[in-house]
Amino acid sequence: MNQFRIKRLVDQAFEQAELAKEDIKALLTADIAELDYLLQQADQKRKEVCGDEVHLRAIIEFSSYCKQNCHYCGLRKENHKLERYQLKKDEIIETAGMASELGYQTVVLQSGEDEYPAAEIAEIIKEIKNTTDLAITLSLGERDFAAYKLWREAGADRYLLKHETADQALYEKYHPGMSFENRIESLNYLKTIGYQIGSGVIIDLPGQTPEILAEDLLLSQDLKLDMIGSGPFIPHEQTPLAESKTGTVEMTLKFTALSRLLLPLAHIPATTALGTIDAEGRQKALLAGANVVMPNVTDSKYREKYQIYPEKICVNEEAGDCRQCIGGIIASLGREVSQTKGHSLR
Ligand code: SF4
Repeated sequence: MNQFRIKRLVDQAFEQAELAKEDIKALLTADIAELDYLLQQADQKRKEVCGDEVHLRAIIEFSSYCKQNCHYCGLRKENHKLERYQLKKDEIIETAGMASELGYQTVVLQSGEDEYPAAEIAEIIKEIKNTTDLAITLSLGERDFAAYKLWREAGADRYLLKHETADQALYEKYHPGMSFENRIESLNYLKTIGYQIGSGVIIDLPGQTPEILAEDLLLSQDLKLDMIGSGPFIPHEQTPLAESKTGTVEMTLKFTALSRLLLPLAHIPATTALGTIDAEGRQKALLAGANVVMPNVTDSKYREKYQIYPEKICVNEEAGDCRQCIGGIIASLGREVSQTKGHSLR
C-alpha cells in the first residue's frame, strides 16, 4: 500500500475512531515495514488518552479444570496429560492479599470453565473486598446469568470474556458445544448489570483472515468494550491444532495499534502470549497503543500446570520477582506503573 493511503487511513482513524471494514482490512494486510505511522499514531493516541501510566492487573490462576474442549487450548477437558489443580478459597484470598501488599490495584480471578460453586466465588469476592482495596476482575468463562449477577452484587468490578473470533462459523468450529450467540449475549448482559467488560481475540488462529480480524474490531466497537486484548495463537501439543503455525508478532501489533485508534478509550494489555513468542513482545505492544500488563501472581508451584499454551514466560518466577521485572520493563520505556485502579475510561 502506498504511504499516502496509509497516512490518510491512519489520520481518519486517529481523528474519528472510525474506519470502513475494507480500510481496516487494507491496513491489516499491509507489510508491517510500511506501517511505522500506524504504530506511532497509536502510541500518540495512547499518550493523549491514557497518559504514561501503565496499569498492572495481577492474575490468580486458581483452577485449571475445564469442562470445555476448545481446539486451541491446553486446558481443554480432553487433555488427559495435564495435571489439574484447584486452589481452596483461603489460598485465593491469601494470594489476593499478597498481591495487594505488592502494590497491585487489581486482581484477576481466572480459571477454566470449572464447576467452582458460584456461592463460594461470591464469598471469595466479598472477603477480598473486605480485606483489601483491590478492584476485582473475573475471568471464569461462561456461567449462568444468575452467577454473573451474584458476583456483581458481591462486589466484582469487571468481567473478562474473550470472544476469540467474530466469525461465527470459525468460533463454533473451534468451540465444540458452545454458541457464538451466547458468548455475545453474555458480554452484553454483563455490561447491562454494571460490569466493565473486556474481550479479545486470538491472532492468526488457523482459518482466520484479515477480513475476520476487521470484523473483530468492528464487533468490539459495537460491544463498547472497556478492555480489548489480542494475543498470538500458539499451538499446544495436546490439542487438535498442534501442527498449526504460530501467530505473528506483526499481526498482533497491527491489531493492537488499530484497537487503540478505533477504541481509543479501551484499556489494552500487552499480552503474555506476545511476550512468549518474542522476548520484546510486551515492550513492542506498549509502544503500539497498549497501556496494561497482566503479571501472574499465582504460586509458582501451580504455574506450569496452567498451560493454555506451551513455553509461557515467567512460569518459574515468584510473584515479587514478576512485579519487579515488569516495573523495570515499564521504567525502561519511560513510563510508570499506575497507582490507581485503572477503571474504565468510558
Ligand atoms: S479456552 Fe477456556 S473454556 Fe476453552 S478449553 Fe481453554 S480454559 Fe476451557
